Amino acid sequence: MESCIFCRILEGRAPASIVYEDETCVAFMDIQPVNPGHVLVIPRTHASCLSELSEDVGTSMFKVGMRIAGALKRSGLLCEGVNFYLVDGEAAGQEVDHVHLHIFPRFAGDGFGLRFGPDYGKMLSRSSLDEVAIKIKDAMPRT
Ligand code: 5GP
Ligand code: ZN
Repeated sequence: MESCIFCRILEGRAPASIVYEDETCVAFMDIQPVNPGHVLVIPRTHASCLSELSEDVGTSMFKVGMRIAGALKRSGLLCEGVNFYLVDGEAAGQEVDHVHLHIFPRFAGDGFGLRFGPDYGKMLSRSSLDEVAIKIKDAMPRT
């Protein structure tokens, strides 16, 4: 895809600091890291969102992510914990239109955090939880 920065990286037409690559995925350093060691794992084939990605490729991305998380812990970088973060869709905060999995080291006092809405923290009743669960259950693909 001509306009996609991650496709340009895959084609070698934009620079990247690559930490891992195989036939399905490439992992490279995020240009604007949350913390030092912030890696992005992307599929070789352009997909804008998770629904365009095969489950096999998604599995491979997660597998690579797990290996990177282990490497971060062994790397000597400050890494007391690891976050996996994937944004799917503009409303979720997606800025680059090519599926990517963020993996970054965490440490006490690093300043990273998620903001919550005003309703966060309220415990829902079992019936409300069940009602939502049924909607999701009914929408699950048949296997
Ligand atoms: P998201 O779409 O998940 O909100 O964010 C996209 C991520 O891609 C950001 O963390 C941003 O720093 C990273 N990014 C954007 N452009 C480039 C680039 O040209 N090279 C690299 N290595 N990372 C990029
Ligand atoms: Zn792309």
